[in-house]
Amino acid sequence: MKIVDSVNEMMKISQTYTGKKVGFVPTMGFLHEGHLSLVKQACKDNEIVVVSIFVNPTQFGPNEDLDSYPQDLQKDSSLLKAEGVDYLFVPKAVDMYLKGFETSIHISHLTDHLCGYYRPAHFDGVVLIVNKLFNVVKPKKAYFGRKDAQQFRILRRMVKDLNMGVEVVEMPIVREKDGLAMSSRNVYLSAEERKNALALHEALTYALNQIKSGRIDAHKIRLEAMNIMRKHPLIRIQYFEVVDEKTLQPVSTVDSKVIIATAAFVGKARLIDNEITEP
Ligand code: AMP
Repeated sequence: MKIVDSVNEMMKISQTYTGKKVGFVPTMGFLHEGHLSLVKQACKDNEIVVVSIFVNPTQFGPNEDLDSYPQDLQKDSSLLKAEGVDYLFVPKAVDMYLKGFETSIHISHLTDHLCGYYRPAHFDGVVLIVNKLFNVVKPKKAYFGRKDAQQFRILRRMVKDLNMGVEVVEMPIVREKDGLAMSSRNVYLSAEERKNALALHEALTYALNQIKSGRIDAHKIRLEAMNIMRKHPLIRIQYFEVVDEKTLQPVSTVDSKVIIATAAFVGKARLIDNEITEP
């Protein structure tokens, strides 16, 4: 595996693929089994696999954890090498955002609710960096986790709207044995917070099962699910929503495929998780 830290070098490499199937997994590092499930799939499907690790400053808000985001490049690179990754791209922020950088991309309605509402500049930062990474890495296929369900739908829209010619693949959420969705940010949790954090999955599972059993009153289900989370004193709910799977607009009646999604602070960790109903 070759580690590439220069944008120009990565661009030169991506010009040499000559018709090969190239798979790409963008990450912010501090890798866990969730990230590796994407990498494994990319290695299965492609002849060349590129993984990026870049903690993108433009997707963090002013009071968020940009400066304290966990990092372990040595461990990450040995995990990726063991998976058979060809290139690990680790650009520097000053190289990705050159002096005088002025361009922005904005996606409208898909960002109205969920994380888009509470992190106003976040998805502009995400679409910008994924766009830039696609231009540098030039993949045919790119892999994303359903844990960031809103992110995936936004990127799918972007790729279509901008004719980017990259196939985006959504992979299932990888969880710890007790149900907690794997996240680099779980490292922030104390033992007590970690126990409280399980309530996100518990509340989502409750809501999913209610819908599976035939209930369609999204608002009531949502309130009941939030009550499950409120029993845990270390949780501060940011949102718990039932939204249409395609438009990401909240629904009052479940009569289509929906995403049940939540974000909550547990201590200083902001955790997100979701479930999606069958069509
Ligand atoms: P991040 O490093 O958090 O930006 O995540 C990089 C990619 O890994 C994103 O596409 C995430 O959706 C995906 N990912 C993160 N956690 C998980 C998980 N528990 N299961 C599956 N994919 C995940």
